[in-house]
Amino acid sequence: MKTRLLVFDPDPEARRLFRKALQESCEGCVAVIRASAESCVQALHESSFDTLILGLPIDNSALLQVLLACQEYHKQPELFLLAEHPPEGDELSTRYFKKTTSGIVQFLRDLPEFLRPALITRSADELEQTHLDQHREDARRTIVERAIKLLSRLGLNSMYVSIDPVDRHWVLVSSTYSIDIHQEIDALLEKSGRFAPDPARVLQSIRDLLLGLSSHYSERPGEILRSIFHWATASEIESLVKKLGLDALFLLPILDGERPRGILMVADTLSLQDQSALQTFVNRLSTLLIRVRSLDRLQLDAHVMRALQQVVFALSSTLDFETIQDQILDLLRTVVPFDTACVILKEEGDLIVRQVKGFPPSRGALQLGESIVPPDRSALGQVVYDARPILLRVVEDPLQIGLSHFPADIRSWLGVPIMWRSEIIGGMALGSRAQGFFQDFHLRIVLGFAQQLGVALQNAHLLRSSAARAEKMRLMYEIGRSAVSMLDIQQLALEVAAGTLRVFNYYAVGILLNEDDKLVPCAYLRGPEGIPVSWVEPLDLNAVGFAQEVVKKDQPLLISDVSKEPRFEHHSELPNTGCELILPLSIAGEVLGVMIVDKEGVGQLSEDDLEMLQVLTSLIAISLINARLFGEIHDHAAELEERVASRTAELQSQQEQTEAILRSVADAVLVFDLEGDLVMANPQAQNMMAGEWSEGVLTQISRLHGEKGRIQESFDIGEASFQALASPVELDGDSIGTVIVLRDITRLQELDRLKSEFVATVSHELRTPLANIKVYLSLLQRSKQANRQRYLGVLNQETDRLTSMIEELLDLSRLESQKEIEMEPVEMTDILAQVVEQHRPTCDEKGIHIAHETEGSVRVLGNSDQLIRLFTNLVANAATYTDPGGMISLNISGEKEEDGIAYVCVDVRDDGVGISEEDQPFLFDRFYRGTMARKHRIPGSGLGLAIVREIVNLHGGRVGVESDVGVGSVFTVWLPLIKWERGSS
Ligand code: ADP
Repeated sequence: MKTRLLVFDPDPEARRLFRKALQESCEGCVAVIRASAESCVQALHESSFDTLILGLPIDNSALLQVLLACQEYHKQPELFLLAEHPPEGDELSTRYFKKTTSGIVQFLRDLPEFLRPALITRSADELEQTHLDQHREDARRTIVERAIKLLSRLGLNSMYVSIDPVDRHWVLVSSTYSIDIHQEIDALLEKSGRFAPDPARVLQSIRDLLLGLSSHYSERPGEILRSIFHWATASEIESLVKKLGLDALFLLPILDGERPRGILMVADTLSLQDQSALQTFVNRLSTLLIRVRSLDRLQLDAHVMRALQQVVFALSSTLDFETIQDQILDLLRTVVPFDTACVILKEEGDLIVRQVKGFPPSRGALQLGESIVPPDRSALGQVVYDARPILLRVVEDPLQIGLSHFPADIRSWLGVPIMWRSEIIGGMALGSRAQGFFQDFHLRIVLGFAQQLGVALQNAHLLRSSAARAEKMRLMYEIGRSAVSMLDIQQLALEVAAGTLRVFNYYAVGILLNEDDKLVPCAYLRGPEGIPVSWVEPLDLNAVGFAQEVVKKDQPLLISDVSKEPRFEHHSELPNTGCELILPLSIAGEVLGVMIVDKEGVGQLSEDDLEMLQVLTSLIAISLINARLFGEIHDHAAELEERVASRTAELQSQQEQTEAILRSVADAVLVFDLEGDLVMANPQAQNMMAGEWSEGVLTQISRLHGEKGRIQESFDIGEASFQALASPVELDGDSIGTVIVLRDITRLQELDRLKSEFVATVSHELRTPLANIKVYLSLLQRSKQANRQRYLGVLNQETDRLTSMIEELLDLSRLESQKEIEMEPVEMTDILAQVVEQHRPTCDEKGIHIAHETEGSVRVLGNSDQLIRLFTNLVANAATYTDPGGMISLNISGEKEEDGIAYVCVDVRDDGVGISEEDQPFLFDRFYRGTMARKHRIPGSGLGLAIVREIVNLHGGRVGVESDVGVGSVFTVWLPLIKWERGSS
């Protein structure tokens, strides 16, 4: 940078002198020489100048014009005067030079000295203009380097060391010296390790400097260096002084607040003005550095905040373990650049490498999934065992980190624990190949990351374990649910044991149930296959034991380490049991049994198992109660069923009896319920309601049903007569319906009538001969001897008539009361022949021809006496009602079959008076006598044909008549044939 001079001298000779002097002695200057005030003002207007040289004398108005222009343009160049004689006043004496060649040369030589404070100030202005948009990360170094450059431009040798805020060691950042000197200084610094001057050992002035209290200028630089580098030899110091070309040393602290963050050393002899200007320069440099640093910090903070925000976002948006770790390292790299990184997590007591970045894929390098054991005292050890964040700015030996896995060229390292609350869940470590790369704020950032990672990992872990737990819960509920539907206790116990074994991966699961003061093993299975464990004896509930204790207290019991329980006895088939959990199967205070769960290994059963199994055991208890209730209900139902069956059978037989009785009762029986619905009707009732008189019967039934109380009455429907009884049906004093009994009494009434008629007829029939006997007896008393014989004859005749009538009555009565008669095969032709021969004399006497026509043998099953009586009656009637000259014939007219029975037909034919059509239907009634018999007073009782019909009926045959009045009559008798006998003899 050249010094810009503006020379205003109206004297042409002086201007010539100036030009000449400039040519000879000043290379570092650019001079603008002006003769008039106007052109001088013009120059000030167009450009800026370091120096304004006024060649006196200048008239006052021109001088004022130029000085005002200087004010106006804020250029304020340094003002110097050239004159023949020195001006008056002390202030300007230092700015005066003699207007001669030697004076001008002297001025130009001294000019830099004069200008330096001003130039230093201008350099400070320039420093503030430093463009910092680029290389943001190195802004402070850039500023420092620029400051050194600006000072060197002013011919000042300088050096800047930064002071570490933590351990206060010095680092040479920039200087005007060559690289050789740099190396020498570095070597000297390194000799004492990390160089940090001890305030206790330095000069008082240097101590003030180190504490940031004051700057220090000394023209004995060796003394200062010795105080600072107290371990260095005198020759080393001397050599350094020589190499640095130190005449004097000005040390200025660069402050950040009250603490020095760097020292600017200016190695030159300096005027007080220079020192003061440099102090200003350094103050402004400090301010600039602080500003840049806080800007940097702000920007870095913002960057870190953004990164952390992203971390939180990334972590909260995924709960996948690997993604989280992978993302965190990528995100971390955006704020903390690293060469290597790893995430180590504690898993079941081991430290497992879960993420690695930047490790060379060589053998021996840190591997994913590897289990590591860093020594206790190592950096990594302290991180993962003691939860101490560790920052190694300089790594001298990679083994210091704690693992030989780390690349040998790692020069800076930091490690932080990953925590969840106060628990160490792992650690993360970053490495850099740049020595001293990692700083405190890196550590803070990584700690922040690790904190987030801890939360996220714990969340992921919780989610994973809660998902696993939820799945277990679900499966367990399934076991419980299926158990609830099971009603067989043995099957239930087996399924629950097998299911629990499978879901929880236990060593063994057993279910023991209470039965009569004993715990009986229902199911005991072991291993993934659920092999049954044999159990010899049930446990006596009164004995001492863990299971008994659980039953007694209704509390679960967890034996975390069975080896520490002297009372614990290993089952011979479960030698590896490490811990055991016994849970009561209880509901509402009733303990139904216990569930025993075994696991291999000590302490493998947790509160979590207990909690989940308690849910399961409560479900099992419900299931057991269900199954037990079902069993009881089942037994009860079976008993009830049996009772119902026997009672039903009883009732059925009773009902059958009742029905049989009702069926066999001749009367119609109907039962109605209270609503009037027919609930029972015996067959007689059904017939009656469907029979000839159904309409009337139904009307009467509904009427009777409507009546209250017990009713007994008779009524007629058409020609039929009925007797009815209606009565309420009562059960335990309550009316439950009505029973109606109907009896058809038509036939009884007819019999009654017949009986009256019979008595009347018999009385009448008996009265006639008795009246005759009475008349003739009185005639006999009063008669003469001559008539007596005639009267006695009549009396005899009437008595015979009476006798035969009584006999016939007795016969008929006998026949009617006789249900069976003795039967034997009878030859019909013999019977007919016998009857004809019996009547032949009588017929002959009356002049009637009698004959019988029979061929072969016709045999019937019958009673020959009765059959003779039958045909005798028919032949006697024929003889009675046939006039003399007539004829009577008996013949077997043929055979006919009816309803699968073969009959023989025997006709008794006459050509007598015949029978009127009106008489024919009644001929076979008792005491019925035909019109003819009554008109002609033909003696008879009207019982003959009634006897005939009785005999025919007793033989299972039939009798019929065909007759025409005046022509004759044919009585035909059908008698059952003995087929096998027919024609056999
Ligand atoms: P009885 O002959 O005593 O009057 P029966 O019972 O033998 O009584 O006969 C009943 C009636 O049948 C007789 O009164 C008569 O009118 C009629 N009757 C019976 N047999 C003959 C016959 N062969 N020819 C005409 N009328 C007969």
